[in-house]
Amino acid sequence: MSQFVYRFGGGASDGKAGDKNLLGGKGANLAEMASIGLPVPPGFTISTEMCDRYYAEGERIPDDVCAEITDGITHIEGITGKIFGDPADPLLVSVRSGARVSMPGMMDTVLNLGLNDETVQGLAKASGDPRFAWDSYRRFIQMYGDVVLGVDHGLFEDALEIAKEDKGVHLDTDLDADDWQRLVARYKEIVAEELGRDFPTDPHDQLWGAVGAVFGSWQSERAKTYRRLHHIPGDWGTAVNVQAMVFGNLGDTSATGVAFTRDPSTGERAYYGEYLINAQGEDVVAGIRTPQYLTLAARERAGAKPLSMEEALPEVYGQLAGVFDTLERHYRDMQDIEFTVERGKLWMLQTRSGKRTAKAALRIAVDMAGEGLISEEEAVLRVDPAALDQLLHPTLDPDAPREVIAKGLPASPGAACGRAVFDADTAERWAGNGEKVILVRVETSPEDIHGMHAAEGILTARGGMTSHAAVVARGMGRPCVSGSAGIAIDYKSKLMRVGAGSSGREVKEGDVLTIDGSTGEVMLGEVPTVQPELVGDFGTLMGWADTKRRLRVRTNAETPNDCRTAREFGAEGIGLCRTEHMFFDPERITNVRQMILADSEAGRRAALEKLLPEQRADFTEIFRIMAGLPVTIRLLDPPLHEFLPHEEEEFAEVARASGLDVETLRRRAGELSESNPMLGHRGCRLGITYPEIYEMQARAIFEAAVAIVKETGEAPIPEVMVPLVATRAELAIIKALIDKTAEAVFAEAGARVDYLVGTMIELPRAALQAGAIAEEAEFFSFGTNDLTQTTLGVSRDDAGRFLTQYVEKGIFGRDPFVSIDVEGVGELIGIAAERGRKTRAGIKLGICGEHGGDPASIAFCEATGLDYVSASPYRVPIARLAAAQAALRKG
Ligand code: ADP
Ligand code: MG
Ligand code: MG
Repeated sequence: MSQFVYRFGGGASDGKAGDKNLLGGKGANLAEMASIGLPVPPGFTISTEMCDRYYAEGERIPDDVCAEITDGITHIEGITGKIFGDPADPLLVSVRSGARVSMPGMMDTVLNLGLNDETVQGLAKASGDPRFAWDSYRRFIQMYGDVVLGVDHGLFEDALEIAKEDKGVHLDTDLDADDWQRLVARYKEIVAEELGRDFPTDPHDQLWGAVGAVFGSWQSERAKTYRRLHHIPGDWGTAVNVQAMVFGNLGDTSATGVAFTRDPSTGERAYYGEYLINAQGEDVVAGIRTPQYLTLAARERAGAKPLSMEEALPEVYGQLAGVFDTLERHYRDMQDIEFTVERGKLWMLQTRSGKRTAKAALRIAVDMAGEGLISEEEAVLRVDPAALDQLLHPTLDPDAPREVIAKGLPASPGAACGRAVFDADTAERWAGNGEKVILVRVETSPEDIHGMHAAEGILTARGGMTSHAAVVARGMGRPCVSGSAGIAIDYKSKLMRVGAGSSGREVKEGDVLTIDGSTGEVMLGEVPTVQPELVGDFGTLMGWADTKRRLRVRTNAETPNDCRTAREFGAEGIGLCRTEHMFFDPERITNVRQMILADSEAGRRAALEKLLPEQRADFTEIFRIMAGLPVTIRLLDPPLHEFLPHEEEEFAEVARASGLDVETLRRRAGELSESNPMLGHRGCRLGITYPEIYEMQARAIFEAAVAIVKETGEAPIPEVMVPLVATRAELAIIKALIDKTAEAVFAEAGARVDYLVGTMIELPRAALQAGAIAEEAEFFSFGTNDLTQTTLGVSRDDAGRFLTQYVEKGIFGRDPFVSIDVEGVGELIGIAAERGRKTRAGIKLGICGEHGGDPASIAFCEATGLDYVSASPYRVPIARLAAAQAALRKG
């Protein structure tokens, strides 16, 4: 018989501790903490395998599992000495979800389960604290009502507000036992009014309801959205944890808190966290009361008054610090922890690898390697390459003037600028239209995830460093300022106010704001930014990565600026220099149009004459910057169609330059327009039909190369790349033209340079014919953007309409334009690599295209044995790290 329930607590756990796939992250770590002797309230985990079965059985828990769960309750009763449903001294439990990877706020937790009108009396008596008992009861009805029964939680909150108003108090803590008791009665009325039936009183019924609700929440819209954004498969399922309650709301020697073993923003080796005395569960992160600092140092640094835990509860704090160290040594990673203190006794409720900023990830990895806790290889593997993105982007220029209108907590670092919007839907809509937005909320909740994702940055008026906004923003790499108490947000009028009276400011929807998630500053208007420094921990880790990788990393760049940035980021050459971008320059476009629209070769040559010196200057500059590194230059690729004039004025200008009349030009333009330009007159087809274009480009390349030799004495390494080749014959014709041009230039200049001629592989036919094409080609560069389009028969520009659904339905695991379709496109690349090498051993193989900066695609390139990947400048460090990780994982 298969087992679905795994127990933990009392210093031991059922053999499966640490098995996240089976127990979910939370359950696996609870079991593991229990088995290494940490104080964990006893409980059990219903495995993720049950999630599937729950749905297969028509959303119910089958009888055999019910029996196992009942045994689990007996296990908890045995350890705690309390009985579930006992009217004298009841066992209460929490019911908690927990998938393999943490999905913040996606799944719902119910606390204090097991309370009813009888057991609440027992709890009051046994604890000697009726206020606590009734407070726990109302919390239970509220959470259970919301999460399990689907009653709008606003109704409960309103009732609570009314109760406080009636009594003339502001804080929950000002309500006494009688007040809570009255509120419980009101809550039960609300449930009965909303549902037409009573709140369940039998603790076992409550339990089945809660367990079912956790499994049920796996398929909630919120959970599905989160999974889609984070590429989490729908079939993983969630586990359910049922655990004895411990109470942080039992007076002034009780508390609850969250902590990190190191600073998750900076990575500094210092305990970091927040806690609240006399509070329960989510109070710390819910933003209802302002949490207090964990350590004295943090409190002093912030200049805050309320005592830190280190001061208020020194003994338990000492114990907690010991647990932090044990956990770090055990997991060999920074941990994110939840704990509760019940009447001076410490209980651990959760641990997991802590989410951290990229900066912290680097520092922690480098520090831990230094401390001997992990090896250099592990350090390299610890940092998510995609997260480096956060560090590679600009920060606020320290010298730039700014108007700081508010300050909050530095919740997620980096600077962001955009138009203020006050709800997630607007954020998403505006971002969809290409607007940069800052999402401004009182506080965020899981319903806002899509808006947070769409925003450049997030600003909240409430909530601490571990609030929903802060945690999610750090995970997404969005700059965030949280808890900016000085701002007042009015959702109705879509504005926020800062300060009062005549010095007050108003920021309306659409006004530009800048936030600095590293300092917590909120500024009006746009503040200029500066490039990041690539030294320190970043430099150390990248240095380690470079010694571990086999793949070379090049860049896709064509402007001098991009080339310089890429070199600073460690690019080892250019893998793709697109020449058409150079043609779009407003000062050149008329010449380009004149060339395209000419009705004779002589006309074209006249225009090309004017373009030659400009192209030569472009290449000279690039060779100069790339000093001795290979530079792959792609000959003109796009459909001529893209350069055609549209406006009256543009035609007139071309007419002036070429001497042709507008009428003729219009006719030519009509002839050149295509209905399917992506599959039309483009790529090497241009070179075949208008050889003088490629001849001019080849001449520009070689003239630039010999000029550099004369200037610096050092030879550049040009690699001339022919696009969209389908047959060997095409390449043979164009290669002959390139070679002939090279010889002519070398003879004129009296100097030579070595160069290569190769081709892009971006058509399935080229991949299949790679053996023949390699007779001509000295290198292949896989143009995976087009290869994906032509292999899948999908246009990248239009695919948005259905691709999201394809990913949602699991037809594609990932968007094939973001991450290589390994099965299809990947197989073609594999075939081409193999056939190419058979013809020409040692043929240089690389990939350019968006995929060159995608870690999963880079792992594929490593596995296929390519020589290099080429990525856009800002992705070069990501590619370096991903390449190292791919090599290390390959072993
Ligand atoms: P999440 O995944 O959203 O953090 P959790 O299951 O961890 O949800 O629980 C929500 C809150 O309730 C946390 O603050 C947690 O520490 C607290 N909690 C969970 N179980 C217990 C328990 N048995 N006793 C006391 N507090 C608990
Ligand atoms: Mg939660
Ligand atoms: Mg938790």
